[in-house]
Amino acid sequence: MQVDETIIRNVVQQVLAEVGQLSAINGAGGNAGRHGIFTCVDEAVAAAAEAFDQLSRHTTEDRRRIIDHIRRIAIDQAVELGTMEMEETKIGRLEHKIEKLRMLGERTPGVEFLRSEVFSGDHGLTVIEHAPYGVIGAITPVTHSLPTITGNAVSMIASGNTVVVNPHPSGKRVAVEGVRRFNEAIADDVGIDNLICVIAEPTLDSANALFKHRDIACICVTGGPAVARAALNSGKRAVVAGPGNPPVVIDETADLDRAAKAIIQGASYDNNLLCISEKEVFCVEAVFDQVMTAMERNGAVRLNATEIERLTAVAITSVGKGEHRHDVAAKDYIGQDAAVLAKAAGRDVPADTELLFGEVAETNPFVPVEQMMPFLPFVRCRDVDEAIAKAKHYEHGFRHTAIIHTNNICNMTRMGRAMDTTLFVKNGPCMAALGLGGEGYLSFSIATPTGEGVTTPLTFTRERRCSLIDDLHILGKN
Ligand code: NAD
Repeated sequence: MQVDETIIRNVVQQVLAEVGQLSAINGAGGNAGRHGIFTCVDEAVAAAAEAFDQLSRHTTEDRRRIIDHIRRIAIDQAVELGTMEMEETKIGRLEHKIEKLRMLGERTPGVEFLRSEVFSGDHGLTVIEHAPYGVIGAITPVTHSLPTITGNAVSMIASGNTVVVNPHPSGKRVAVEGVRRFNEAIADDVGIDNLICVIAEPTLDSANALFKHRDIACICVTGGPAVARAALNSGKRAVVAGPGNPPVVIDETADLDRAAKAIIQGASYDNNLLCISEKEVFCVEAVFDQVMTAMERNGAVRLNATEIERLTAVAITSVGKGEHRHDVAAKDYIGQDAAVLAKAAGRDVPADTELLFGEVAETNPFVPVEQMMPFLPFVRCRDVDEAIAKAKHYEHGFRHTAIIHTNNICNMTRMGRAMDTTLFVKNGPCMAALGLGGEGYLSFSIATPTGEGVTTPLTFTRERRCSLIDDLHILGKN
């Protein structure tokens, strides 16, 4: 038979139609083709619940395949999506927006992190497995909109959940575009749509609707004090990755150039937007002046007292009324380049300056405030005891992150005990605590008040115990 073009076209069309039907059957019912984008919370939760049902009928290997699509898109399209995030949010540094997406795509723990526990003995065999919750509600920050969604989606889907995300309104467009791309690739390959749903027009009302929704089994919130409080009061199982104000202590035994390099790397990353970033330094008097020189030698620009005063006047503002009145970082300066802050301080610095710093009194608001901008205040302390005490005070009990530069093991131990933080870094930049230059694994949702720490697929699971009585303990008596 002569195979002509018309026959080929007909066959291709028939195959495509069948694949389409199959994908509709396998896909999330009437919501197939939405690729996770919704304006209504009820519809998004319903679609994610249907997707959860579908996912439950797939193997762990299929979950790995699904996650591989998320990883591939985050890595291969990091430049395009990172640029989109930078253009939309207008905070941070482009190179780090791109790097964060790649990092989360490459290094977020996946299905390989799942495990079961076994108890075997005279009375038989008990296996504890880690089951998904179902549909998780996630709230994500403007500081890392798509990176947080990427990491959350990998962890949550690895353990068999689906997720509805209420992104920060100022990072919603890149959130929607990323989610669309993830779902499209997953649906094309595995035939399930809407594993990750996103509210395209997020508001506080939509966040609260998610918190209260009866079909949301668990919430995961990554953000500042207000949303952390709201999540803790939601009455739902909540994984809360809350705010921090990471202090740094430097004692007289530290390697000062190593300390300066690490502090500059951590505090300038993405213009200080990381929740783990160095936010204030308490340095002992004995090496204070040498540390300031080491900071300059390694590329940071030192502001004088008048310049710091000018910067403080515009970059820190007050909110709240009466007893609730407190200082916060001014929105116009959060995540801006060091050169922009320097201009506000009355100084011209090269555009590629990574970090500004300077000596301040403890009373300067840059010390208590989580500034999220590349100016780092240094406070002179009598000795290491005073430095640790101040570090503890200004961490505000968030128990998030603390850092010390020292070669004295006793001082490390004392500070570790005193701070009681989720992350404690010795002699490195903050990101070393997330496996970036240190040992360990990565997540951008570090659960602090609720205690789960650096989240993994296991964070989003319920224990299920299965006991067989008297049998299958094959080492038992004959
Ligand atoms: P943010 O608190 O302004 O917003 C975070 C998210 O919460 C957004 O989606 C926002 O719309 C929502 N939100 C805010 N108030 C809410 C409320 N009352 N009810 C419901 N939703 C609410 O924070 P941001 O500026 O986007 O992000 C920076 C903050 O997040 C910093 O405090 C930082 O330390 C923290 N953070 C923590 C982690 C962590 O892993 N612990 C990671 C990243 C950021």
